[in-house]
Amino acid sequence: MAKKRKPRLAVWKFSSCDGCQLSILDCEDELLSIAGEVEVSYFLEASSVVGKGPYDLSLVEGSITTAHDVERIQTARQESKLLVTIGACATAGGIQALRNFKDVKEFISAVYAKPEYIETLTTSTPISEHVQVDFELRGCPINKNQLLEVINATLNERRPNIPTSSVCIECKLRGTTCVMVAHGTPCLGPVTQAGCGAICPSYSRGCYACFGPKETPNTGSMSSWLAQLGMKDEGVVRAFRTFNAYAEPFRKESEAHASK
Ligand code: SF4
Ligand code: SF4
Repeated sequence: MAKKRKPRLAVWKFSSCDGCQLSILDCEDELLSIAGEVEVSYFLEASSVVGKGPYDLSLVEGSITTAHDVERIQTARQESKLLVTIGACATAGGIQALRNFKDVKEFISAVYAKPEYIETLTTSTPISEHVQVDFELRGCPINKNQLLEVINATLNERRPNIPTSSVCIECKLRGTTCVMVAHGTPCLGPVTQAGCGAICPSYSRGCYACFGPKETPNTGSMSSWLAQLGMKDEGVVRAFRTFNAYAEPFRKESEAHASK
């Protein structure tokens, strides 16, 4: 009997810090099991061996910030049966999307000694603005258990079981005292998607919204609470403009306060 072909996995990098790809390698205990189930065909962070497409599953890290990225993501899509974006860069444009609110030329001349050598787009955009995406896994960086669930689900042709509830639910599940109620510490947990395990509140810090907006977030109410805790509009803009600044609900809320 002919041996069943293993699904072929590709991992693509666009504009990013590589942290989400490292989360794949961080699956130390499960890595051998993954390698047993799939053929890792293209993963430059882990291997110089380059297997040609098509691929059954592509994991895409990073945002689109150059003309070359615009072309390459089309290639990735054409060569992939399923395409899953991983991390805040790929799903929301990442921290580098802060350029979308400013003149990128000012940043370039402030950062680089030879700005004339830099070729870049004026925006950083999520992968879904360029090609069809089959699933988006949030986080900066992603949670490795959620990543394993996504790989398992996509290879078994089922929808990944990833909660879209808020970080507050994770706080309650682990029995953490609410830092906003108990100490008046600003916390974006009520509008942020679960996934980190509410790490920051467990260390008496507010949530920084690394996992981006939860499903139907009430950002207006969140801003009112931040204001009641003494935060000025400038602070509200900064709170919403971090790793997921260009995710629509956060972008709109920050723009509403920036224009005041
Ligand atoms: S989402 Fe965060 S950890 Fe992942 S590549 Fe982007 S900056 Fe790095
Ligand atoms: S600490 Fe933050 S995330 Fe946790 S319950 Fe309070 S508001 Fe929600």
